[in-house]
Amino acid sequence: MQQQLTIAERVAEIRRKIEAAARTAGRDPSDIQLIAASKTVNPERIRDAQAAGIEICGENRVQEAIGKVDQVPGMRWHLIGHLQRNKARRAVELFELIHSLDSIRLAQALQRLADERDRAVDVLIQVNLAGEATKRGIAPESAAEFVRSLADFPQVRVHGLMAIPPLTTDDERARAPVRRLARLARDLRDAAPQNVKLDQLSIGMSGDFQVAIEEGATMVRIGSGIFGPRAG
Ligand SMILES: *Cc1c(COP(=O)(O)O)cnc(C)c1O
Repeated sequence: MQQQLTIAERVAEIRRKIEAAARTAGRDPSDIQLIAASKTVNPERIRDAQAAGIEICGENRVQEAIGKVDQVPGMRWHLIGHLQRNKARRAVELFELIHSLDSIRLAQALQRLADERDRAVDVLIQVNLAGEATKRGIAPESAAEFVRSLADFPQVRVHGLMAIPPLTTDDERARAPVRRLARLARDLRDAAPQNVKLDQLSIGMSGDFQVAIEEGATMVRIGSGIFGPRAG
């Protein structure tokens, strides 16, 4: 039987690997944010991760986060799953960064909330790199036009791009999507209005975060690597 690692041991191991990958790429490890993907994980285990030094959790669903946020004081929360417009109000209250801006209508809703609150909303644009029908996100071909349209929503502050590449355990195959996302971010800079910065790349999960860091990821979202395998 495989030995069960504690959350603290897993976090320490992930940190070591993040540092090693950053060094390999000649990058500063402190430029990479570790986000613990905490879907299906109960507050008690999230507090264990917090005790091990995790400062940011990523949740996929607003509804699930509502039940957890109050039970983990001091944790910072990002939304890493799709956001429905009718949940946008709760989302801007709960999350400091929404990784999943994927439509103009959502941008519109976020702008309205920002106006109401007199406070900008921080987001990443989700890109559907491989045009997978099952995944959300802006098609790379449409990204320039999308970015230009965001000039109409000045309180929606974009910090970069997010993607969920196809799962692979093959390092070499994992590189291509990260490179594509990094190149897209560079290409979009010319089209970007003032409220759109393209410095952050949220890509890299438990199976591919080292490669993602070597290729330029600035945010890695790690679930099973920290909390162990998810049931179901
Ligand atoms: C679950 C999830 C992750 C983390 O996946 P692991 O393979 O468990 O590390 C990252 N990003 C998103 C959007 C997720 O839904």
